[in-house]
Amino acid sequence: MLISNLGEVELIKRISRQFPYQGEGVRVGIGDDTAVLSPLPDADRLTLVTKDILVEGVHFLTHFLTPYQLGRKALAVNISDIVAMGGIPRHLVTAVGFPPDTELKTVEEIYQGMGELCRICFINLIGGDTVNSPRGIIISVTLLGEVEEKNLILRSGAEAGDLIGVTGNLGSSAAGLDLLMQEVGEGKERDKGHASRFQSLIKSHLEPPLRLKEARKIVQSHLATSMIDLSDGIIKDLGEIARASQVGAKVYLDRVPLGPALEKASSFLGNDPLEYALGGGEDYELLFTLKPVGQEKLKELAHEFQVPLNIIGEITPPEEGIKYLDKEGEERNFSRKGYTHF
Ligand SMILES: [Mg+2]
Repeated sequence: MLISNLGEVELIKRISRQFPYQGEGVRVGIGDDTAVLSPLPDADRLTLVTKDILVEGVHFLTHFLTPYQLGRKALAVNISDIVAMGGIPRHLVTAVGFPPDTELKTVEEIYQGMGELCRICFINLIGGDTVNSPRGIIISVTLLGEVEEKNLILRSGAEAGDLIGVTGNLGSSAAGLDLLMQEVGEGKERDKGHASRFQSLIKSHLEPPLRLKEARKIVQSHLATSMIDLSDGIIKDLGEIARASQVGAKVYLDRVPLGPALEKASSFLGNDPLEYALGGGEDYELLFTLKPVGQEKLKELAHEFQVPLNIIGEITPPEEGIKYLDKEGEERNFSRKGYTHF
């Protein structure tokens, strides 16, 4: 069935079924002119707000992502932003544009992807809008979150002498995207086998990780002096921390966590794995800074997390700029400079 045959009221009813109400803080959810949120119970809790818009053909290709993965990813990247502030995601507002010939199944699966994360993270869908899009799918997500004032973490808190930490292995998502691009490459006979060989990398791109638990542990331990989620790659995102904190940085390239699959895939693709890890983007891991005295605590957390937790460099005075150093201490430059939005 096409959504144009269903009508908006019935469509919204079907969508709402994917989102059982499961948290606190909502006085009136979907159904009135606006949602009504209860005041936050503690005066020291702050509200976080983030918004993203994803446009078919610009931010995603529907032949790579299933509708489920698309819905999941649209919400996951917003959760990642709330988490990078030290917060907890709470309430979701969506706006979606669909071409009239969109299958109902596609719409339902997109919302299933979002609904799944809402259940895992206890997020309430409190409102939304659906419109007709003349060309391609558009998904806009607004996510509200909360953070205790003492756990709020900004990009601007890094100081010279701090260490730079990172969760997970980097570069997987960008290499996964390259592998997907190769598969649909036109003209030449392609090696179709690599999709199964490098499934973990492709999955990182299609289903980015959630680092909610890890980020909360990091802020609750009062370890981090600044934090950002790696949406655009280290080169750009560390640059954001350096700019906001007015500092420089040194990254030791042999400490950047790559993961075995990335090394193999990079040699298959004929690229340098570090290009993916530093300039690729969409890893949605956490990049943070901490005082050297926090290293012991960080080791404890690494043990607990079951995801890699690595120190990759240190913060320097602003006049030293940002340097990427190889084992011999030689500075290296990279051609990928991170994802640019325009
Ligand atoms: Mg971010």
